[in-house]
Amino acid sequence: MALARGYAATDASKPLQPFSFERREPNEDDIVIDIKFSGICHSDIHQARNEWGNSIYPMVPGHEIAGIVTAVGSKVTKFKVGDRAGVGCFVNSCTKCATRDLDLEHYMPGLIGTYNAYEADGVTPTYGGYSDSIVVKEGYALSIPENLPLDASAPLLCAGITLYSPLMHWKAVPGKKVAIVGMGGLGHMGVKLAHAMGADVTVLSQSLSKKEDGLKLGADHYYATSDAETFKTLAGTFDLILCTVSAEIDWNAYLGLLKVDGTLVLLGIPENAVPVHAFSLVPGRKNISGSMIGSIKETQEMLDFCGKHNIVSEIELIRMDQVNEAYERVLKSDVRYRFVIDMATL
Ligand code: NAP
Ligand code: ZN
Repeated sequence: MALARGYAATDASKPLQPFSFERREPNEDDIVIDIKFSGICHSDIHQARNEWGNSIYPMVPGHEIAGIVTAVGSKVTKFKVGDRAGVGCFVNSCTKCATRDLDLEHYMPGLIGTYNAYEADGVTPTYGGYSDSIVVKEGYALSIPENLPLDASAPLLCAGITLYSPLMHWKAVPGKKVAIVGMGGLGHMGVKLAHAMGADVTVLSQSLSKKEDGLKLGADHYYATSDAETFKTLAGTFDLILCTVSAEIDWNAYLGLLKVDGTLVLLGIPENAVPVHAFSLVPGRKNISGSMIGSIKETQEMLDFCGKHNIVSEIELIRMDQVNEAYERVLKSDVRYRFVIDMATL
């Protein structure tokens, strides 16, 4: 067992604080990663504050992990000491069924989260990336392309794959009109990725305050959802709408922006339910769906795609002791566009 240091939430209402814990002894198929950077995802905040009602404390959040391999087990073939490695939202999954072969392991009940979960033994808690090291099976670690800066690559491990997967699944190809709702951590990655895939990209943000950035990152159009005219102007426009909003909004209004057969995909996971009216779906054969991160294979594909197109996150690098302040700023949509913790400051 190796002693690790990090920051943890100890209950839903207290700020995160320094926390020491033990990382398990590496097995023959494990690698040890010296964590250099850890992104702050809004899901970290939802879980640290028990907004999904499933929190396990103490909780070390963080599932956008980028670092350097410091040790490899005897059966490891993908990594060697000194390699750049990333860990995303899960560190284990069911391997017994065919689903892993279909690259859908992230939708299986056996999924083990990087934090706020228990290891396969059912009793040892998993601890995430707001810490100095992690031990992970090599099959759940990702290779980060050499040409990408490590700090700005960390958010690809969650924000990147969460947008890449639905853009690929619903085929955001040239000629498709794609809207991204919310220009936050997930949303700004969606703009970059959809643009690189050749789709026509529209940002639907609460205001026009980030319009200049949105257009620079690859959006073709940018509208404010606080302006009721937006919903009239854009009625029936989109093939695909990816909603990254972390709060409850009126999905019926957004369904009105879809073309016939268009799809609204929920990526954001607000605390409370939102009603959907049948009239929002029936006239127009519209679809509402959801999507969660991506498989390990697809995450590696996404990283390689980002390497090829030179895509990383727009980040604000912060010290570990700024994490609580960063959470407050995320809640106010005051982040451009992802906070990343420099773990050297722990
Ligand atoms: P974020 O950086 O806070 O971005 C969310 C954006 O939503 C904000 O920047 C804001 O964009 C918009 N927004 C916030 N409150 C709003 C409100 N009341 N009304 C309208 N728009 C609002 O968060 P994130 O890290 O991108 O995560 C977003 C959501 O996705 C969270 O719920 C998170 O848990 C979830 N998530 C899901 C997955 C998945 O696999 N499905 C993966 C990661 C995260 P504007 O300022 O542009 O309006
Ligand atoms: Zn996340």
